[in-house]
Amino acid sequence: MATAVEQDVVQGGQPSIPATRPEARPERLPLGPIKTVHVFWLAGMSCDGCTVAVAGATNPGIEGLLLGIVPTMPKVILHHTVLSVEAGEAFIQPFKDAWKGELEDPYVIVAEGSIADERIAARTGGYFSAMGTEVLSSGGASCPVPSAEWISRLAPGAAATIAIGTCATWGGVPSAEGNPTGAMSLMDFLGKDYRSAFGLPVINIPGCAPQGDNFTETVFAVLLFLQGLGPLPPFDELGRPAWLFNETVHRGCSRAGYYEEGMFAHNYGDPECLVEIGCWGPVVNCNIVRRGAINHVGGCMEAGGVCIGCTMPGFPDKFSPFYKAPPGGIISTTMSRGVGAVIRRLRRMSNQHANREVRWDVMNEVPSGWGNVKGATPSLKLMEYFYKKWQHWGAKAPGRPKGQEARFWGGDRPGTYSDYIDDSTAMEDKHDRH
Ligand code: SF4
Repeated sequence: MATAVEQDVVQGGQPSIPATRPEARPERLPLGPIKTVHVFWLAGMSCDGCTVAVAGATNPGIEGLLLGIVPTMPKVILHHTVLSVEAGEAFIQPFKDAWKGELEDPYVIVAEGSIADERIAARTGGYFSAMGTEVLSSGGASCPVPSAEWISRLAPGAAATIAIGTCATWGGVPSAEGNPTGAMSLMDFLGKDYRSAFGLPVINIPGCAPQGDNFTETVFAVLLFLQGLGPLPPFDELGRPAWLFNETVHRGCSRAGYYEEGMFAHNYGDPECLVEIGCWGPVVNCNIVRRGAINHVGGCMEAGGVCIGCTMPGFPDKFSPFYKAPPGGIISTTMSRGVGAVIRRLRRMSNQHANREVRWDVMNEVPSGWGNVKGATPSLKLMEYFYKKWQHWGAKAPGRPKGQEARFWGGDRPGTYSDYIDDSTAMEDKHDRH
């Protein structure tokens, strides 16, 4: 099934391109309707964090897909080393059926974890990650089948091939500098020319761990496409769902207002922007703060953590050490400190202005029992006068036109402190108490 492609060139500390690459299959499966689709989940150099993340997805959750109760969606049969109830040969047989083209329904493969260069392990008779056992060479003993081999077998016939998590999408931690296992991403393993049986390159949903809903939502969109019920969802030039990864995490961060006003945290636990204690959010494509970690709650900066770029192809080497401010941040933080110092003072004045009722402005008193809230000072009143002029310049200001109160009110309109407060009654009350 697979063609040997020996490329032992080692560059920049990164070992070779894969030992085997699947043969290209020219045929394309027709688009839907599909009643059932198998999902083969293949784990390589992984920590199972992606599985945990997907199990926690809620919007949409995987339960609906597995139960086949989502309208227009095919029923999904998941083959997963952790979540499946089958074991042994009963678990492995569908993988073999898919490889041999004997599966009745189409299938999708999902790769979790990076793919090790099994040639390195084979030199000492071992393996890095594997599933099931087979006699791989004539006369040989039964031995574990490497995950890389399963991917080579199943990728050509898959309706879609999805890499989940940063290890599978870009290599991640196992392929960091040094890389003793020759670990690589699914894209690196399958090569630039790879296309699924439906004509799709590898779909990448990065993150360490990824946001679970990012995965399930993308699977839904791809299944709709495979059903022939929807267009191909937009993917960027690296195969990421464009609608999820086209913005930086900084643009959706709940602390971005502090950055703009030049206010930065010095310690973990501070409420301000975290860039000076190591946040890379301004240059990282991710939606974790907008979407939340689970069920729209949490997310790195929401929970007080800095962005260490875990969704990015350059992770982890290009973002370490994780506790230092990114060098590029010095320019922008210096500028926002200067501008922010002015902006936030002006905003504080506008905020005081907005924190008073119109009635309190007239009375120049705030009747709060919670604190001594002062009325506007003369300089603030002057500022507010010009502010309001500017605000309503060329537009209609709120209130009745001057001099026409009688027309609207049928009489004089109260407009001064004495109009609001009846002092005579207050005096009477005072006398009564004595
Ligand atoms: Fe941007 Fe990070 Fe600051 Fe949030 S905490 S505003 S992502 S730099």
